[in-house]
Amino acid sequence: MKKLMAASLFTLSLIAGENHAHWGYSGDTSPEHWGDLSEKFFICKKGVNQSPVNLNRFIDAKLDPLKVQYSTNAKSVVNNGHTIEVKADGKNSVTVDGIKFNLLQFHFHTPSENQIKGKNFPMEAHFVHKSKEGEYLVVALMFNEGEKNKNLQKMLDSLNPKEGNESEIKKSFKPNELFPKDLSYFRYSGSFTTPPCTEGVRWIVLKTPVTASKEQIEQMHKIMGKNNRPVQPLKARVILK
Ligand SMILES: [Zn+2]
Repeated sequence: MKKLMAASLFTLSLIAGENHAHWGYSGDTSPEHWGDLSEKFFICKKGVNQSPVNLNRFIDAKLDPLKVQYSTNAKSVVNNGHTIEVKADGKNSVTVDGIKFNLLQFHFHTPSENQIKGKNFPMEAHFVHKSKEGEYLVVALMFNEGEKNKNLQKMLDSLNPKEGNESEIKKSFKPNELFPKDLSYFRYSGSFTTPPCTEGVRWIVLKTPVTASKEQIEQMHKIMGKNNRPVQPLKARVILK
């Protein structure tokens, strides 16, 4: 039985295309060790455009309004052991720099990973998009504690907290229903915030946070634990606003 379970977990990670080195947020596999856990994670310690960052070195830029073309419902939700992840069908997109990026999934971190002017938020969501050419773009959304988030609740109602148990989202739930009305944003160049910490990722951080209730954030934190990588040095980068 044990052997069977290990085999199916192995298959799962193959399908997900994950690296096999175990990584986490505490102890021997915490973020400061990621770069040493596998050769494939080298960029986690040697990269110069790593995420998350403290957004505090701004340049005024005339950023184009964010073009969000989301229309289909979120498919399923899973606690994958690192985060709570919601899968999309690839038909939702944003267009940035004239490139169309399709939404693959979105997931959560408690507390936030990026900081805005030195401030952490109790929760941050990352909407991960990929272009046809294989480039990545993440839209980051901050959550403050406040009014209950009805749209987030649709996801929570379907969530099986047990690791690896993916479940269909039963209520109609479009990912952009989580977005604030005002889609103005900060922009910088960064990386994945989890191994292998791949760089060349376009980051769009929405300026306007939304709310979730204390109970909702606590419920998610209880499942995910503290899953935020510490902020990384900006080095030569600036933040466009
Ligand atoms: Zn993330």
